[in-house]
Amino acid sequence: MKNKVKDSGDERSATGGSPETKYPKNFIRFLGTAGTRFVMLSQRRATGGIWFSYGGCLGVIDPGPGSLVRICEAVPPLSPIDINTLILTHRHIDHSSDLNVLAEGMTLNSAERRGCVLLTEDSSADGDSVLLKFAEKKIERVCRHGDGRITALPGGVTAESVRHEHHGVQCYGVVFRKEGLPTWGLLSDTSALPSFPERYSECDILVMNVTMLLPRSRLDHLSMPDAVSLLEVIHPKLAIVTHMSSMLLDYGPERIAKALSTERTKAVAASDGLVVNLEGPL
Ligand SMILES: [Zn+2]
Ligand SMILES: [Zn+2]
Repeated sequence: MKNKVKDSGDERSATGGSPETKYPKNFIRFLGTAGTRFVMLSQRRATGGIWFSYGGCLGVIDPGPGSLVRICEAVPPLSPIDINTLILTHRHIDHSSDLNVLAEGMTLNSAERRGCVLLTEDSSADGDSVLLKFAEKKIERVCRHGDGRITALPGGVTAESVRHEHHGVQCYGVVFRKEGLPTWGLLSDTSALPSFPERYSECDILVMNVTMLLPRSRLDHLSMPDAVSLLEVIHPKLAIVTHMSSMLLDYGPERIAKALSTERTKAVAASDGLVVNLEGPL
């Protein structure tokens, strides 16, 4: 497990370590780890979503404010021109603001339509789409989430959408699968639903947007007790917490990791720039 989570060593790194010279073949990099508008607006933690490279599928999930900047500043380098997939779990601005600039990168060097965008119906509604028509025209496939719907992504990767419940907007988590590679999933912004243990049971690695320290009935976000309850039932080998509020950041990454780790699951709180080898020793 020691080699499983590697920090890229950038200036926002919470765990330090020397810069890596190259990325693993299959990995995720946390471009940002901020949750809530307050953390986004102060940039106490960066926003920008998750870069992933998995079985030939290369893209960004929830490209919020600064996603492009975080990509261009990344060490080792990343390039928006390499992207072939963009995924929005929902339309909120901290998850979607850089969608169009990254779509511009994805389609820049292609004379033909290129790439895949997966988003919710209400993110692409006529008259209020977060994906500009100008950008959409250059994209090969625009796909919509549906509960249990399997979307074929580049490189033979599949994405299973999992319905969430989040402040009146359509929101979906995703489980990614590819033959021969570990299955990994993302629990996005949502209240805790009874369907989650079953839907995420196959995940070897689970990224969780755990925003709150304690549950608050008005807020459709996962809290620490929600995450503890889930990890008592499902047992990913690695659970990574992101999308943290100020309160959770004040509580501290080490305490979060300790509270969520079990005999079967190593838990970590993500730092900005954290790189996770999806094929590392699990
Ligand atoms: Zn949201
Ligand atoms: Zn959010």
